[in-house]
Amino acid sequence: MKLLIVGGVAGGASAAARARRLGEDVEIILFERGRFISFANCGLPYHIGEVIPKRQDLILMTPEEFKIRTNVDVRIGHEVVLINPEDKKISVKDIDNNEVYEESYDKLILSTGSSPIQPPIPGADDPDVMVLWTIPDMDRILDSINKKAKRAVVIGGGFIGMEVAENLMKKGLETTVVEMLPQVMANLDHEMSRPVSETLVRHGIKLYLDNGVTKITRTGLDNSSETELLITLKDGVELKTDFIIMSIGVRPNSELAQKAGVKIGERGGIIVDEYLRTSNHDIYAVGDAIQTTDIIRNAPAQIPLAGPANRQGRIAAENALGGKVIYKGAVGAAVCKIFDLTAASVGNNEKILKQSGTEYEKIYIHPFSHATYYPNAKPMSIKLIFNKNGVILGAQIIGQDGVDKGIDVISTAIQANMTVYDLEELELAYSPPFSSAKAPINYAGFVAASILKGTSEIVHADSIPKDSFLLDVREKAELKTGVIKGYYHIPIGKLRSRLNELPKDQLIVIYCKVGLRGYLAERILKQNGFKAKNLSGGIITWDMFNPAPLDSIIRLNGHCSNKEKAEHLYTESSGHVSLNVCGMQCPGPIVSVKQKLEEIGDGEILHITASDPGFIKDLPLWCTSTGNKLLNIDQHDNIIKAHVQKYDNTKNNISACESSGVKKKTAIIMFSNDLDKALAGFIIGTGFASIGHDVSMFFTFWGLNMLRKDNKAIVKKDIISRMFGWMMPRGANKLALSKMHMAGMGTGIMKHVMAQKNVNSLPELIAQARKMGVKFIACEMAMDIMGIQKEELIDGIETAGVASFTAIAEQSGTTLFI
Ligand code: FAD
Repeated sequence: MKLLIVGGVAGGASAAARARRLGEDVEIILFERGRFISFANCGLPYHIGEVIPKRQDLILMTPEEFKIRTNVDVRIGHEVVLINPEDKKISVKDIDNNEVYEESYDKLILSTGSSPIQPPIPGADDPDVMVLWTIPDMDRILDSINKKAKRAVVIGGGFIGMEVAENLMKKGLETTVVEMLPQVMANLDHEMSRPVSETLVRHGIKLYLDNGVTKITRTGLDNSSETELLITLKDGVELKTDFIIMSIGVRPNSELAQKAGVKIGERGGIIVDEYLRTSNHDIYAVGDAIQTTDIIRNAPAQIPLAGPANRQGRIAAENALGGKVIYKGAVGAAVCKIFDLTAASVGNNEKILKQSGTEYEKIYIHPFSHATYYPNAKPMSIKLIFNKNGVILGAQIIGQDGVDKGIDVISTAIQANMTVYDLEELELAYSPPFSSAKAPINYAGFVAASILKGTSEIVHADSIPKDSFLLDVREKAELKTGVIKGYYHIPIGKLRSRLNELPKDQLIVIYCKVGLRGYLAERILKQNGFKAKNLSGGIITWDMFNPAPLDSIIRLNGHCSNKEKAEHLYTESSGHVSLNVCGMQCPGPIVSVKQKLEEIGDGEILHITASDPGFIKDLPLWCTSTGNKLLNIDQHDNIIKAHVQKYDNTKNNISACESSGVKKKTAIIMFSNDLDKALAGFIIGTGFASIGHDVSMFFTFWGLNMLRKDNKAIVKKDIISRMFGWMMPRGANKLALSKMHMAGMGTGIMKHVMAQKNVNSLPELIAQARKMGVKFIACEMAMDIMGIQKEELIDGIETAGVASFTAIAEQSGTTLFI
């Protein structure tokens, strides 16, 4: 038996080693056109960044060592240029001698891999436009860096692009990533890729998304004979750099097989059967070069990853020697490190499922990597996609710890045909430093199963129903880290006692930080007769769909232009107070910061040490909305250090408050029950709310009528109160114009004209104002005089005395009387 193998790295070397283990007598020849076999191409980026300091460590085995270990005839620098399937012969070119010779075979395994795509961009053929695919490629890049290159641009934001960019940064280069798509890492859905982009930017990488390269030009440097590369982007931006790494994807090396008449798939991969045999009985193929099967949809797929290539190599070797081992296909389990973040995915993402018309449901959760009471628990974001039968279609996880473990468990579950119900039941190893008694993957199973069983109903951040009532159930201090516009706030602990503030006739969409308190609130509301749904993944997921612009991301290591000033300030300050909130999880750190700042004097500086990764995002937002000054924030080895100067009431006064973004207040007294005046009041109120003001509307005397329910409420009243009730308009629909009412005709015409011109009716304006968080206060004194009881007013109205209102009015910039 004579077995020839083409390609000596992942799939090829595995096949050769396996074949030898199975057949000591088999004649095995391994052809590799390059100089290295069995090298760690996945480790190449890390040698650039000196994470793997020794180049030698990337070469897992030299040809000589391989030969000694396996007795395989290894021929490096030998390129197979032709296959003659009829005669079962190949033609091989000895590259050093430029000689071509023939070799016969009984069985042939092709593991020719893939090659980086070279786009037809003008100027892309410049020698300083490089790829990272082989050891010589890596040597060339290191050469450029050693020749004092200071700037690099990586074109392509896939996982290799990410790894290369991180390592170029580590090497001290000013690094830019340009990606044509609106996101990096196309294996993730857009929202899940967002933290990856933020991580890149936070670590100092310049990132251009949704922006292709149109041309590359070599230009002269001012006052020098040296040159540099100028990249022109689609939107006209020009980037200057010393070299470029092109990393925009790969195409399978299938030409050799194609020339031999072997069948090739639509995307260029060699078609193989379940035994990895090509359309030719004696030729097998493995690795990046083949078209494999996506197990999820049982559809053809190109999955260029090292794991499948290695396993396929083993299987093909066994089958070439007479075995009958089946390769089931791939799920595309992939993981990537981006600075302190890990991003992983398996199966199909939403983009693929949408394209293929597959129906699915999804959930988002943000659990911790291990028990939160044990130090250094890190949050992760899990997106689980499944169908109505609970079949798992895919998952994406991002976080700092436990991500690889999570994705591997889900990958195993998919391959074992498990459902989300099985994830609930999985017994996974636990002790506090490693996981939680309910492991993140169990938790994903619980949430997915509860959706399928109907115990919980969810909405997603990209499709919150427009006419819903948004309820935020977080603690008050958390609101300062960001809210969803139009929210109404009742902390979960007070929900049961404040149910009367919520509408019964409207869908209530509840949100919290991660979705757990939202779920608890959903259960409370549903059991009290409300229509309620939970926002999947809470405001963290919402933030992923509605992120802050990338240029607003705080860059670590010197982001603060005022850094020296800040250092100076806090070393000089007599009131330098420390707060250590390491180990605390959200909202703990923010709540502690708030409490500590309340204890210290105006203008004093608080030095905070925290470990909750969310703190790096939350603290700047919280400072902005409270007027406290973030002097600097930095993260090293997962510890966040920040200096916050307490808002100085005496020095900064109004301007500090204004510039800090603290919400301005507006008070409106609704006295009249004339329709036109009421309309004006609500239009002004919602207008102020829309520009971010805290608006309070105080309804007194006749103004109370617009808050009355349309239907008569059954309440006990004395005769005078009842008479008042008969004489006054009941509810917003019954209000009349102050002028030209004309026995109802004028008011009717006005309502008709408003409807025609798409102007909201008064009840619609009232609903809109409530949705926008406008506070409605009914005057207790006027209610008493006019005999109006709270039950007669629409749900959710606060009642208060004049003192409460004057307190609000005093803090308001604007107070109107209507
Ligand atoms: P390769 O390992 O590429 O081997 C193909 C070999 O065939 C090449 O050496 C080529 O020279 C040789 N060859 C081709 N044609 C001929 C011919 N006619 N005659 C002789 N020889 C020929 N995957 C992961 O899963 N995780 C990672 O973290 C990861 N990181 C990566 C990082 C980098 C920088 C790179 C380049 C790849 C990475 N990959 C990773 C991808 C992974 O390396 C590939 O999927 C895997 O190597 C494919 O194995 P293969 O045997 O099909 O091809």
